[in-house]
Amino acid sequence: MLNGRMMDMPLLISSIIDYAADVRSSSEIVSQTVEGNIHRYTYADSHRRTSQLANALKKLGVNEGDRVATLAWNGYRHFELYYAVTGIGAVCHTINPRLFADQIIYVINHAKDRIIFIDQTFVPIVEKLVDRLPNDLIYVILCNKGDMPDTSLPKPLCFEELISSEASTISWPNLDERAASSLCYTSGTTGNPKGVLYSHRSILLHTFGMLTFAADVGLTPSSTVLPVVPLFHANAWGLPFAVPLVGAKLVFPGAALDGASLFSLMDRERVKAAWGVPTIWLGLLAEMRKQKRKPQDFSFMLSGGSAVPRSMIQELEKEFGVDVTHGWGMTECSPVGSTTTLGSQTKELSFDEKVELKTYQGRRMYTVDMRIVGEDGKLLPHDGKAFGELQVKGHAIIDGYHEDEEASVAAMTEDGWLKTGDVARITPEGFMMLVDRTKDLIKSGGEWISSIDLENAAQGHPSIMECAVISAYHPQWGERPLLIAVTENDVTLNLEDIHEYLNDKVAKWWLPDDVVFVEELPHTATGKISKMTLREQFKDYKFEHSES
Ligand code: ADP
Repeated sequence: MLNGRMMDMPLLISSIIDYAADVRSSSEIVSQTVEGNIHRYTYADSHRRTSQLANALKKLGVNEGDRVATLAWNGYRHFELYYAVTGIGAVCHTINPRLFADQIIYVINHAKDRIIFIDQTFVPIVEKLVDRLPNDLIYVILCNKGDMPDTSLPKPLCFEELISSEASTISWPNLDERAASSLCYTSGTTGNPKGVLYSHRSILLHTFGMLTFAADVGLTPSSTVLPVVPLFHANAWGLPFAVPLVGAKLVFPGAALDGASLFSLMDRERVKAAWGVPTIWLGLLAEMRKQKRKPQDFSFMLSGGSAVPRSMIQELEKEFGVDVTHGWGMTECSPVGSTTTLGSQTKELSFDEKVELKTYQGRRMYTVDMRIVGEDGKLLPHDGKAFGELQVKGHAIIDGYHEDEEASVAAMTEDGWLKTGDVARITPEGFMMLVDRTKDLIKSGGEWISSIDLENAAQGHPSIMECAVISAYHPQWGERPLLIAVTENDVTLNLEDIHEYLNDKVAKWWLPDDVVFVEELPHTATGKISKMTLREQFKDYKFEHSES
């Protein structure tokens, strides 16, 4: 082999904040704080405080490879932790506060966290768990001295006090780019949460991958970007790294995620691009309808995490002029796998054709390879018709879980691809269309029904706020679809209304056999409808006509 004559420098996360502070120094980071006020500073300010924090961590005895946990909303201190912890070679473990108590205890112990940084709002959660957490865990509250809560946590430290006397410059260690940088547990619908352990290299390559479609989703130097997706969920889809790199203004929403709060924050701070899950957008959309306008400057929305209903894409694009991009990903993929950025060849498409393409999960991101595999283990063609398990491979995709051999073996194929647990089709143009989760597909008389497609069609009904489709036992067909829905205030619907609405939208044999109306649907820690809870709730359900 002839080696290239290029400098061999590791790809390190610290290079991003160094670059932002140098080249994008005056771009702002604005945070809606849990205390209620708005905090504002620049990337240069952030670099200074990140250095102070890194110096403080070293004084607390944090070494390379040590795990440092966070339990916090999206805000500037959490952002500083992302860079300070990883910069000194430690591992930033972002904990999802929506996990159950037992799961939080599990992840802290499994990760062997040494320190935990906690937003004031989450202090009561941790107080209840202390007895089952490591004795030497250090607790730091993310606040000023004056805001320190009266807490039963052992020897709580105050974040601002901790960093105030530290030097505001640092020379980052020259780490191995393969060193672990960040740890995020998947919510795990069954069994214990599983740890996804990212490296500096994987994070940087994922960030570079994102830059290939950045301009199409509003990630440009002059933009203002709002990550509604939490910093505690899958690296906030890579935004804490990609946004500083392009130099856009970053706006953090704190704990105020309802439609009205998001609308006013976006309006005030002139947010151009916002990223989050469809459930959040339902709230924002309701506020936009109420005010009969969008937040000024709002132009790009990236929605992912679960399928985006066609009706939502149509309304946002047609009524409000917001360009919607649909994304698919997994915590295990860092997390972006694909997006529906359309590219120039789609200029000729009609509005309806464009919307149709945006209901797909999109084309693979650079660094991600995709294939679909049948039940017999054979590779399936990318013809837009055949569907099978989606498997992925790439620079920022796990090759196993952190210290969990059993889960690692179950997740990977023998030839090193990740089994996503999703069922998909891929068109000849490379558009991936998710048919369902493997476990959510409904097998009716030997034929498959996609619960996602059925949900998306039903979601378009003007009186349905949110809905889910699960399979229920049927003596003749094995399984049949059951629709569970939440309607707009005071509206009563019945099965016939639903059938009438769906008649020209899905095949006749797909029509749900029954509909149940509920006040509220259960959601998982990552904001998705929890089908597992619904399956449990409706496990004894019997279709009326199938009882005889
Ligand atoms: P968690 O597993 O913690 O709920 P993840 O974000 O890792 O969170 O979930 C990944 C899964 O979410 C995917 O495997 C897929 O089933 C689902 N998902 C993600 N994006 C989409 C999308 N655009 N459409 C449909 N499902 C999606």
